[in-house]
Amino acid sequence: MKPVNDGGTPGEAGAASRAASRRPLIAGNWKMNAGGQDACPLSAAVAKATRELTRAEVVVAPPFTAIAAVAHELAEAKSEVGIAAQNMSAEVSGAFTGEISSGMLKDAGATWVILGHSERRQLFAETDESVARKVASAMAAELRPIVCVGETLEQREAGDTLAVVERQVRAVLDELAKQPGFGVIAYEPVWAIGTGKVARAEDAQEVHAFIRGLLAKASEDLAGVTRILYGGSVKADNAEALLAQDDIDGALVGGASLDAAGFAKIVEAAHRLAERAEQG
Ligand code: PEP
Repeated sequence: MKPVNDGGTPGEAGAASRAASRRPLIAGNWKMNAGGQDACPLSAAVAKATRELTRAEVVVAPPFTAIAAVAHELAEAKSEVGIAAQNMSAEVSGAFTGEISSGMLKDAGATWVILGHSERRQLFAETDESVARKVASAMAAELRPIVCVGETLEQREAGDTLAVVERQVRAVLDELAKQPGFGVIAYEPVWAIGTGKVARAEDAQEVHAFIRGLLAKASEDLAGVTRILYGGSVKADNAEALLAQDDIDGALVGGASLDAAGFAKIVEAAHRLAERAEQG
């Protein structure tokens, strides 16, 4: 299948080709917040605050119940902001009470889906295998997966970061390789999520470069076009240092995505860096 990433032509992995081949992506994970009357004003405020920041792609991930309303709001505003779901079933339909399928998400207006978030892995027993099935199902339905990987504090302290990340990435590699650039990986060290403890930019870069190396083993093309986001306590004041790293192609933002102005500052940092990279 054709490589896709909305950002240009596929190139070699690494910094030189980044501006040409990987448009920065900033995705806001609202988690179990803003699912009711707050969803439309929040999405409208994000659309307004990021409208001119076109060098970055922006996605919001509201709870399931708000996806259709947010899609309507963004369409009315003629906004380019995309919509992600926060999870989905690997099944297409049937007797799965309480589950939501890829088709339902697309009908509601989502074009992306976050899969394998650490909260789903830790609190809802998702495994590499179940995440891989969901990724396959999303890709088959042309719903773009944002696949989350990352180590716990215990794993980091035991020196297992790269082994854990390798196992999680390898589980989805074949699927992602079927359509290079269609899916996105988010490296989210679990100890940095919702804790205010952000990874040092150079530590995050090391893991991102490692992930890109794993992708390159499948194909250089896959490594060149796949966006690898960082997630874990990203805020307006730390975004630029992270986004400036060669292999960090955007951010998955939790808490800070609930404030449109703060979220827009993160988008602005990505936009500014991309603009600078274009100018050489
Ligand atoms: C997340 O939920 O994916 C996340 C990164 O959260 P936070 O930004 O709040 O750490």
